[in-house]
Parts: sequence; C-alpha cells; structure tokens
Amino acid sequence: MEEEKKIRKPRGVARLIPGKCIACGARCQSACPEDAIDMNDKGEPVINIEKCIDCRRCVKVCPAEALEIYYTPDDDKILAQIAASAKGKEQKEVGVEETEAFADIKLYRGVWVFVEHAEGEPATVSWELLGAGANLARSLGGERCAVVIGDTVEDLCQESFAYGACRVYLIDAPVFHYYRTEPYNKAICYLVKKYKPEILLMGATGLGRDLAGAVATKLNTGLTADCTCLEIDDKGFLLQTRPAFGGNIMATIFTERTRPQMATVRPQVMLLPEKDTSRKGEIVRESFAIKEEDVATKVLEVVNDQGECIDLVAAEVIVSGGRGMRGSENFGLLEQLAEELGGVIGCSRAVVEAGWMPAERQVGQTGKTVRPKIYIACGISGAIQHLVGMQGSDVVIAINQDRQAPIFEVATYGIVGDVFQVVPAIINNIRELRAKKGGSSDTVSSQRKE
Ligand code: FAD
Repeated sequence: MEEEKKIRKPRGVARLIPGKCIACGARCQSACPEDAIDMNDKGEPVINIEKCIDCRRCVKVCPAEALEIYYTPDDDKILAQIAASAKGKEQKEVGVEETEAFADIKLYRGVWVFVEHAEGEPATVSWELLGAGANLARSLGGERCAVVIGDTVEDLCQESFAYGACRVYLIDAPVFHYYRTEPYNKAICYLVKKYKPEILLMGATGLGRDLAGAVATKLNTGLTADCTCLEIDDKGFLLQTRPAFGGNIMATIFTERTRPQMATVRPQVMLLPEKDTSRKGEIVRESFAIKEEDVATKVLEVVNDQGECIDLVAAEVIVSGGRGMRGSENFGLLEQLAEELGGVIGCSRAVVEAGWMPAERQVGQTGKTVRPKIYIACGISGAIQHLVGMQGSDVVIAINQDRQAPIFEVATYGIVGDVFQVVPAIINNIRELRAKKGGSSDTVSSQRKE
C-alpha cells in the first residue's frame, strides 16, 4: 500500500500532431486556462510546455483531433506501472466479493410462495403464485414449497398441497394470530436463512407489499414489485418483468448476486391452478421462538370496513366506463347494463381523476388487476396502463367511437359507435330476449351462475 502511494502520476503535455491542424481559428488557444498556447503564422498552435498543466482542454476542443497529450518514455514506464498495480487491486477486490456472493448462491434451492391469509382465510393470490411457481421450479429443477405462518393454520398446509406445493414450512403460534410486520418478517427471515430458497414470491397485496419489502431489506436481497411475468433464463436467473416509466416500457429485472430472488405479483395476474385435494406433501414444522412481549406493535381491535364493498377483483362481469362517458351522471346507464348481466362497475383512471367514480373502481396499473369472464369497456381508449389491468379477461367487449382506439387491439368483440346509443341498445336487447323467455332478471342471472 505504502509503495503504491509513492508512485506519482507524471504530468503530460499537449503537443501538435504534424499535418493535422486545420487552422480552425485558435480554439485551442482560447480554451487554455494557463495561456500556454501561442499561434504561429500558419494559424497552428505552439505549446509552451513549461506552462502546460495537462488539463487537456485544448485536446477536447480541437475539431481536427490535432492535439494529443505527450509523455516522455520514462513517464510512459511509470504510467504502465500504475496501470498494472491498479488492475491487480481491482481484480483482487472484485474477486473476493464475487467468490463470497456466488459461493453462497449455489446453496439456495427451490421456489417458495408465502401463503397470505387473514386469520386463516387464505388470499387467492397465494394459490395463483403456487401455480406460477410450477414452471419456475420445473425450469430450475427445484421444489415448489409454501410458507404458512399464523395461529392454528395447519389446514392451510393441505390447501397448499392441493394447489401444487410439495412441502410446506409451517410456523404456528398465537403470536402470529394477526399479521404484524415485525414477527412475520423475523419468522420468514429465520426460515430463509435456515432452508435457503432460491426464489421467494408474495402477493402484491397490502400485506404482501409490506412484508416483502421488510424481508428483502433484512436479507439484503433484490425485490421486484408488481411483476406481470416471471420466467427463468438460460443461466437460471429469475427474470422479473414489470411495467416501468409509467407503463410505457416493460422492464425485465434480475437479481444477480444475492438470494433469494424476490418478487411480488398482483392478484389475478397469474392463472389460478386446478385444485387437487388428493395431492399430499410434507409439512416441516418450525417452532420459531418469538415472545409477544418482544413485539413492539399490538393489535387492539380489528375494525372491518363498513363502507360499500365492491369486489372488483372477484367479479365475473365488469362494465367499465372511461372518459367517453362524459360525466358521473351517465354511469347510471352502465349500472343498468351491469345489473342486467349480474356484474359490477369499473372505470379508467381518467374517470377517477375527474371525480366521477371512487378510486376502488379503477382498473389498471395503479388500480386493480381484473380477470373477469366478460369485460365491457365503454368509452375507454385503451392506454397501456389500463390494458395491463384487464387484458387477462376471458372476453373483452369494447365500445368506442374511434375505430383506431388501442382498446380494439385487445378486444374479442369491438363495436365502433357511440356508447350512448350502443349501451341502451344492448340493454333493450337483453330485456327483450328475457321477456321472450319469460324470465326475470333474477331468474336469468341465477340460471347463469348455475
Ligand atoms: P381517454 O384516453 O380520454 O379515452 C376516452 C375514449 O372515449 C376515447 O378513445 C374516445 O374515442 C372515447 N369516446 C369518447 N366519447 C365517446 C362516445 N360517445 N362513445 C364511444 N366512445 C367515446 N389509466 C387507467 O385506466 N388505469 C390505471 O391504473 C392507470 N395508471 C396510470 C399510471 C401512470 C403512471 C400513468 C402515467 C397513467 C395511468 N393511467 C391509468 C392513465 C392512462 O394513461 C390514461 O390516461 C387513461 O387510462 C385514459 O382513460 P380513458 O380511456 O377513460 O380516457
């Protein structure tokens, strides 16, 4: 170290490369801060090497690349010595870092899904993630496992097997009755450090977002939120794709040096796999010791939301309105259609921003991701941020007066027309058909459910 410090970098000087100057008008002279350049009769620079300080400004401004920095042969030797020692040092540093990181990475195996639940009631997104984990585990040649943490939640293990897990890591204790970041974070980190999963997936729900961020921070690993696609590349990295820059591009991110590779995925983005209750698996019971008195937060009371509860995510039919609806008063028309079809109302962000509908109805990147059987888009242009939230619908019916609207690119059926003519016509047709069949609206919707 001492020796390296003693080597002083030699100072170069500017010099003219013969035959290259184009006499541009003394730009080099103007750029020199030391007044070290005079111009000769031909308009070429004459450099005073005593004054030159190797600032290289003349070199940079020269339009003909006619100036260079010159070192004496002795200076060149010193420079070579410095370069060699710097390269050795860099290799040494990177070498240590990489060896440590990569040696550890090889110990991580398998795909884990955190099973989210509210007091034992599972969130469907966990099963969707177990479905998505199947391909990942297959590509990696690893196992698909679930993590169940809670209080008297062993029945969730059987359900995890039914959705494809071959092993469940279970921590079951009263301290985990209600979700709290601190004990859940500690419990997951404990399991990860002990069993070393290669991939850890959670739902991009309120709980999942909170927990995934805390776990990734504690484990000092990478996390990609709100992924829309998960794949394994030929080197075995988890490719985590999500919209970026306001949804204008899809970014694919991977975690190169740390494990586990963590990602969250919103509900309804991945397909729900078939449930097979005959499947069996192994339960690994872990008694992770954390005392209630050691947890800083206490749940005093759980107050359920008393407001109108619309389950947009679970709806089978969504009639969604955009700016083309022109005002909140016109959403009554969409409500009539939704009622006829046994559906619920959704909307675009433009509608929420205009104050025509509450935010809980918004579909899209910053709203809900939905996957209904039928999605009817009325007066919605189909901006990418909207499409990412509804393009997984089984059937998309788009009504728009602009035939160039991007919504038609994802539509199963497109109707070019005015919503204020098309929607009433559809409602009338449904009512006429129903009248012919002699059934009431209730009868038809209950028949449909069957
Ligand atoms: P517009 O784009 O104005 O489209 C209105 C459509 O109505 C037009 O196509 C027009 O031809 C049609 N129309 C007008 N009158 C009639 C009529 N009488 N009959 C038939 N058609 C008619 N948007 C979302 O929806 N969800 C999100 O989650 C979301 N997140 C976003 C996140 C970010 C970071 C950003 C930058 C934007 C986001 N947006 C989101 C906004 C998005 O970019 C669009 O601005 C928005 O979706 C447009 O809503 P719209 O289709 O209702 O309105």
